[in-house]
Amino acid sequence: MPQAMSDLAEELRLDRRRIAFVPTMGYLHEGHASLIRLAREEADVVVTSIFVNPMQFGPQEDYEQYPRDLERDAAIAAEAGSDYLFCPAAAAMYPEGFGTRLRLESEITAVLEGAARPGHFDGVATVVAKLFAIVRPHIAVFGQKDYQQCLVVQQVVRDMNIPIRILIAPTQREEGGLALSSRNKYLAERDRQAALQINAALRAAATAVEAGASKRAELEKIMTETLRQSPDLALEYAAAAAAETLERPPQFASGSRIALLIAARLGSTRLIDNLLVDVPSGPGTQV
Ligand code: AMP
Repeated sequence: MPQAMSDLAEELRLDRRRIAFVPTMGYLHEGHASLIRLAREEADVVVTSIFVNPMQFGPQEDYEQYPRDLERDAAIAAEAGSDYLFCPAAAAMYPEGFGTRLRLESEITAVLEGAARPGHFDGVATVVAKLFAIVRPHIAVFGQKDYQQCLVVQQVVRDMNIPIRILIAPTQREEGGLALSSRNKYLAERDRQAALQINAALRAAATAVEAGASKRAELEKIMTETLRQSPDLALEYAAAAAAETLERPPQFASGSRIALLIAARLGSTRLIDNLLVDVPSGPGTQV
């Protein structure tokens, strides 16, 4: 199966067609569809992959339970404008004798999701590098929903001189602000109400930044206190970090960009979300 995809990519490239690639783990929703539509605008051919990558799941995580529905996915991908679906089997991606794993040594993988999920980003980096080598796209589209993942992919592409342009697409949300996620399938109606608080916390902190707040502790407190209004939410982290490096200084400089990032659990479902917000430039700043 990877071989057939490689052969197709070779043919497309010989025909001088530009390939845009949207990697996913399937159970597609409007967030994935928006990535496919963006890919469609940027290239001649769109390839979407569906692969629940065992290497990026920890031993106690939900690899087995991750929702899967290939038939429905095929319809959603085609409707959004995907030309080819690449759905390799795990045994085809990791055959007997497989023995390589990319390990990031960058600070961006030491914190937040990297700290909460040891080895996760190495698994992501490895599978993305493999998928890029198989699909050979000119462009690849990722969602800001997984903000730290976007930074990881950009780092790998930069470090390994991979000639692919990475596009980051905005997060698609339900009415009320809950970020669309395949894992939302496991949320009961009561959980959904609680989950809305995640976006509310991000927005509260973003509003504070826009009104002039720039102290990290203050922003993180705003998020934590908003989240506390939903007692069912088990908070893993609510962080304000420099958007490019994920460093967490005591105070953010005027004109800098902050990433507000939250991870929380509702029962056994783990949800993440984020917002980017710019610290207003101070008075007298030259522009
Ligand atoms: P996943 O299938 O969850 O691994 O996601 C595949 C791609 O879709 C990743 O680049 C995600 O960041 C992106 N994605 C997931 N949820 C959303 C969303 N709500 N809005 C936009 N992109 C998303």
